[in-house]
Amino acid sequence: MPYYLGGKIKDRQSLIVTPVERLEQRFIVDLHASTEVTRIERQEQRVYYRRLSDGVEGSEPYDKLIISTGSKPFVPKEFNGVPGVFTLRNMRDMERIEAAVSAHSEHVVVIGAGFIGLEMVENLRARGVKKVTLVEMMPQVLGVLDAEMTRDVLNELTKNGVDVRLSDHVTTAQPLPDQRVALTLNSGAQLSADLVIVGAFTLHAVARYPFPHVSLLIARRRRGPRERPGRCGGSGAGREAGSARE
Ligand SMILES: Cc1cc2nc3c(=O)[nH]c(=O)nc-3n(C[C@H](O)[C@H](O)[C@H](O)COP(=O)(O)OP(=O)(O)OC[C@H]3O[C@@H](n4cnc5c(N)ncnc54)[C@H](O)[C@@H]3O)c2cc1C
Repeated sequence: MPYYLGGKIKDRQSLIVTPVERLEQRFIVDLHASTEVTRIERQEQRVYYRRLSDGVEGSEPYDKLIISTGSKPFVPKEFNGVPGVFTLRNMRDMERIEAAVSAHSEHVVVIGAGFIGLEMVENLRARGVKKVTLVEMMPQVLGVLDAEMTRDVLNELTKNGVDVRLSDHVTTAQPLPDQRVALTLNSGAQLSADLVIVGAFTLHAVARYPFPHVSLLIARRRRGPRERPGRCGGSGAGREAGSARE
């Protein structure tokens, strides 16, 4: 997704690597795409769900249940309620960022120098954003690596005009009247950004159960001929969603 934003990947469709049909055929599962699990009844061994396209509800029994609802981006509390702050988790986020960057591209601040933060700064520069600032609370970029391995990465960032602020973090974020965001860093530095992209880290989505927004869901191994007892609606439910996170 960052490389789509940077223009290296031109075709949005190519981000959807596995269409629903291919998953169903290859792994012999029933996949209810664009369907939200709203309730799990453990005694009954049944999940209840709602199809997002038309609101039709249904349920499905299970023998074993695996919850793999992923994670959601962590946004520091300083950004609560501040407009112009984005995270990148799925293609809808990507489209929101694209629209915002197209509209305001003078100065973007990226929070977090992990893989996503670095891919974002690279692609924002590739897209022609004039000023890109990267704020990282650790004394190095790519905290998962040994410090000496990351020095070349830091040099490359600086060479490409990225303003890297290590050992620093945002302490306040205030919306400005011109729709920019004023940031104060722990070091005392003041920044004003057209938009802020937070690539800090993620929280497990089970923490937000029962899931405020969603997309897909149940995969059930078929035992016999193709039959779908208890499914709501027709067999084409939610075909528009692929396996990309939506
Ligand atoms: C921008 C970006 C770039 C990345 N690049 C890489 C990379 O290059 N290499 C790499 O290895 N990893 C990469 N990752 C990380 C990788 O995407 C994640 O580690 C991986 O997707 C986690 O898989 P998951 O199945 O746990 O969760 P997810 O992929 O998030 O899947 C969880 C799914 O559960 C669904 N769901 C949630 N709640 C419900 C509900 N109630 N009912 C139904 N469905 C629900 C969600 O809609 C989602 O589709 C990247 C992540 C991002 C955000």
